[in-house]
Amino acid sequence: MLKQIDSVCLVGGTHPNELVGVKMICKYKKYPELVQRDSFKYEMLLANPAALELGRRYVDEDLNRQFLKSLLTNSELTTSESVRAREIAAHLKSDLIIDLHSTTANMGLTILPTNKNPFNLRLASYLTTLDPSVRVSFGVESQDASRLRSLAPFGLGIEVGPIAQNALSADLFKKTDFLIQNILDYIQAHNEGQMLPAPSRLTAYQTLFSIDYPKNPSDGSLIAMIHPDRNFQDFKPIYQGEPIFWNFFTGETIFYEDKTTLHPIFVGEVSYIEKGIAMSMTEKVTIDIPNED
Ligand SMILES: [Zn+2]
Repeated sequence: MLKQIDSVCLVGGTHPNELVGVKMICKYKKYPELVQRDSFKYEMLLANPAALELGRRYVDEDLNRQFLKSLLTNSELTTSESVRAREIAAHLKSDLIIDLHSTTANMGLTILPTNKNPFNLRLASYLTTLDPSVRVSFGVESQDASRLRSLAPFGLGIEVGPIAQNALSADLFKKTDFLIQNILDYIQAHNEGQMLPAPSRLTAYQTLFSIDYPKNPSDGSLIAMIHPDRNFQDFKPIYQGEPIFWNFFTGETIFYEDKTTLHPIFVGEVSYIEKGIAMSMTEKVTIDIPNED
């Protein structure tokens, strides 16, 4: 069985315009007994204080893309976020990281395991038993390595939504707190040699690729919006021939043409518009979780 988890790091404000996570860390810093358990040390991190000060997502670039080993070892990178990523990587030595995010997309409570380690899969599976609206999604492996949470072998990101950037939501705040408390209790039980009951078969959404907004080929400007039938419909399967975009110049509907049925998430996520990304396409998968680590 996996050794004990000795240390846990709770992170908010990797994207400081996602205030649920920021306020969660503020509360836990004030009342650390809420996070404390007997069997592990904990730390709390507001990841990007310079951007938080400005009320922005980042100062120069997205912090949560700066954690590839090749970037962390390149001391010639001098953006605010690349410098901050090196500082965090030098200090953060926890076994398990919980990174708190929110999304403008209608993703409910989505768990993003750091990787497919059996411990992470079992924890995710356990969380799905607590609330039927909890879903599990995996990122693209090569991209996962650039995320802050990849600094530890164990852990997960939490995405809650829909919520506007820089907005507050008592409902999503309470739900985030509920998930964190249950994760901490799960780790405590694990360290005491107990395995809390969780289905050994996990249903999850594996991210495959993202789809860009249709653009004008001559100047790259957007020509279409997400089709109204698809807006706020995260995780709903999309079948060949269904509407996906709507050309707001011509009123024309653009259809999904691929034969493969996929499940879009981060549909219309506001922070991805600057990258031209409209949604991430996932495949629904079932994973049998190994008993041994
Ligand atoms: Zn985020």
